[in-house]
Amino acid sequence: MEEKLAILTDAAKYDVACTSSGVDRKGEKGKLGNSVAAGICHSFAADGRCISLLKILMTNECAFDCKYCHNRASNDIPRATFTPEEVCTLTMEFYRRNYIEGLFLSSGVRGTPTETMMQMFQALYLLRVKYGFRGYIHVKGVPGADPQVIREIGYLADRMSVNLELPTADGLRKLAPHKTRRTILTPIRQIQQGIAEERLRVGIGAKMERAWGVKTLPGGIFSEGNSQIDEKTAEQISWLGAGEAGSDNTGRSPLIKETEKSLISGVSAGGLVPWAEKRGLSYVPAGQSTQMIIGATNETDYQIMRVTESLYRQFDLKRVFFSGYIPINEDSELPGLDTPVPLLREHRLYQADWLLRYYGFRADELLSEERPDFNVLVDPKCDWALRHLEQFPVEVNRADYAILLRVPGIGVKSARRIVEARRFGRLDFPDLKRIGVVLKRAAYFLTCNGRQMYPIAIEEDVLTRCLTADEGKKCWEVEHPDSYRQLTLFDDMNMVMMPTVEDGRKTVFGQL
Ligand code: SF4
Repeated sequence: MEEKLAILTDAAKYDVACTSSGVDRKGEKGKLGNSVAAGICHSFAADGRCISLLKILMTNECAFDCKYCHNRASNDIPRATFTPEEVCTLTMEFYRRNYIEGLFLSSGVRGTPTETMMQMFQALYLLRVKYGFRGYIHVKGVPGADPQVIREIGYLADRMSVNLELPTADGLRKLAPHKTRRTILTPIRQIQQGIAEERLRVGIGAKMERAWGVKTLPGGIFSEGNSQIDEKTAEQISWLGAGEAGSDNTGRSPLIKETEKSLISGVSAGGLVPWAEKRGLSYVPAGQSTQMIIGATNETDYQIMRVTESLYRQFDLKRVFFSGYIPINEDSELPGLDTPVPLLREHRLYQADWLLRYYGFRADELLSEERPDFNVLVDPKCDWALRHLEQFPVEVNRADYAILLRVPGIGVKSARRIVEARRFGRLDFPDLKRIGVVLKRAAYFLTCNGRQMYPIAIEEDVLTRCLTADEGKKCWEVEHPDSYRQLTLFDDMNMVMMPTVEDGRKTVFGQL
């Protein structure tokens, strides 16, 4: 089991779409665990990777041969497969000992996608029903799996995600020949529809609720009347176009019926869905996310941002994750083995994603075909401001909330506080500092009572120099994450210390 665990946790480390949030579930007598909406991933590595879930693959045996993947069929690596019972044992034992706060379960494709998902379904079913596990579960959807198993597993998991893998259809064809946009988008659409139906059923309404309570900004991607993409976008990212959807929930395959029969003794003949609905279980209550690899193919930031924006608008995703390409395989279609992982670019894309979701920006405003990549030396909001200097400086005592939000160094909270504070008097730079505005960026773009903080020319070159001087150290830290690493269940840094008797007791009683 330990050997399997070593292989299958290592194989899962490349998946970054594993943060959790959005589910409130209280403990219940006779069952184990709970989950809180604020999220359980309170620990992150410096590069944003989450470290508090048991993150494993069901199997790293894979019939597919995605060129970028460590687990691809053509790689000669140690292989292992968990049984559903083993996944349950590990999850329950680690949870009891406080090593983990939930499970992230992904898998290679062993046999067919449906057979693979059935194994994952069995593991989740046993965890929830036999072992009464009420902690957080994030499960991956395997493209190409039977819609019925995707539907049923959604009642057992909190979050689901199906990886988009690569931003464009060309990239997918080149590097993941066994996957198609159709097999990837079909389950994404199906999960979206299931979540929408669930919201209607419980009366929340089909529109995505922003967990952070940020007001939807005019023109932003979540604003009213903006749920459809315009023609230009549809054409540019046509591989996300309509017509993929249409979950086929009718009829259950014999394999699923068979598995249900042998597995679910307490479930009625109608299958898991009515059973789950009767018990008030929600469908994918923490929403769905996806992930794409950045830097394996030559898409621009502009293309990536447009795809991201469309995923939020068309598929109602909770998060889109970016994973900087890690060169592990030698292949003529891939960047060389000495290519550095584009960590700074990945970091900038996450910042830009934030601008799309919470600051009312659109991909078209941030980048364009003429200028398709971010300047990685400054954050994307500064980059945008430097290219729109005609809109600055902004007078802090007069500007609208939406305008304030666009000023580098002013976040959602500080913009709100400024608007509140202005009702009681005029603000000056020391007030802004107290409010929480990051003046080392904002100072160049603001005036207070008509005065700038520094008498400096508002010109792109001058401001770029000032801003990059501040960002230099941060950029270096993002690009050199050697001092930070993802936590591992194994001591691969030779830090073994003999456990004391006290440690032994604590372990037995789950106090570590
Ligand atoms: S399907 Fe592709 S990405 Fe997933 S494990 Fe198999 S080879 Fe890797």
